[in-house]
Amino acid sequence: MNRREILDWLKTEDADRLEELWKTADTVRRENVGNAVHLRGLVEISNICARDCGYCGIRAGNASVSRYRMTADEILDCARLAAGFGYGTLVLQAGEDHGIASAWLCGIIGSIKDETGLAITLSLGERDDADLVAWYRAGADRYLLRFETSNRELYERIHPPLPGRDSDRFQILGKLREIGYEVGSGIMVGIPGQTYDDLANDVMMFREHDIDMIGIGPYIPHPGTPLGREGDRHKAPDGEQVPADELTTCKVVALTRIQCPLINIPSTTALATINRAGGREHGLSRGANICMPNLTPRKYRELYEIYPSKASCGENADESNTRIKNQILALGRTIGTGRGDSLNWKKVTQTEQKTRGANI
Ligand code: SAM
Repeated sequence: MNRREILDWLKTEDADRLEELWKTADTVRRENVGNAVHLRGLVEISNICARDCGYCGIRAGNASVSRYRMTADEILDCARLAAGFGYGTLVLQAGEDHGIASAWLCGIIGSIKDETGLAITLSLGERDDADLVAWYRAGADRYLLRFETSNRELYERIHPPLPGRDSDRFQILGKLREIGYEVGSGIMVGIPGQTYDDLANDVMMFREHDIDMIGIGPYIPHPGTPLGREGDRHKAPDGEQVPADELTTCKVVALTRIQCPLINIPSTTALATINRAGGREHGLSRGANICMPNLTPRKYRELYEIYPSKASCGENADESNTRIKNQILALGRTIGTGRGDSLNWKKVTQTEQKTRGANI
């Protein structure tokens, strides 16, 4: 698909044509990554954040947030839960918390590996190369860093850099790949100021940067953020502004699957949040093959409010696990076993992976 065709699909409202898009994406998904839905246990290990992203509820400037950082024991307990539920991967996510010391996390990664053998994904923001290398060497397998939007001007507006540091997420994604990580990225759909042209470019970027996992979620306004309060002021002109809705998010999921057949695509929590009745299922039947049940201890969940009314709030790990597995089985899909590595990443030989790691 070229850029013009992607743009055309993003703008279409024709229900029959959209049925064709969903069907094609679902077929491409089935033929390339199969019927299994792999589960990644998500642990939100800290809501402390050095950044002031205009969209995010846990931004540094939001003084109404009570901050926490989980202990090593609490994180290990979550890893045991993940292994007990049969998941293949643990995702450790946080605000950009520079208090997460490199050596401390290396120890935790080592303990999780020793005890459970789970694949480990990190999603900790823009950290120094030395930290990224140390965590990879300690046993982390994947790193997740969304580029949020490929429109540089819009990105800089909503994601100000730390003083004296450039924020170039494409450069960091390249570095992560060079180190040897399986690389995840993604975007928000419907950011105020994001146009259909921007969105078509985002989909082209997924392929151009050979990313192994792409998370696509709708932007959800948070009243404790500048963008949440003043979003209307920043919107692109009528007809150009991308809506932050389920339909547009699903179109991007479907187009991404068609463009990048071998990658992993999660049906995101944000999609399940804007349509609690069927958002997760729509994602899965329109190209997605991954779900991320939340394992964060109940007492911390409400404090990791990146946007309001997050679908996983108000339930515990057991409830999230049961609900998501039932949703998957009801679609006639199977629960994935093993690590569920991205086939896009696997196509690079083990030898090449080792060489990459050794070059650092
Ligand atoms: N600090 C890390 C980072 O920036 O990559 C990981 C945590 S960050 C909270 C995880 C993701 O949440 C972001 O990449 C962003 O896409 C998403 N997010 C944050 N605020 C959001 C909002 N208001 N609506 C939808 N998604 C949001």
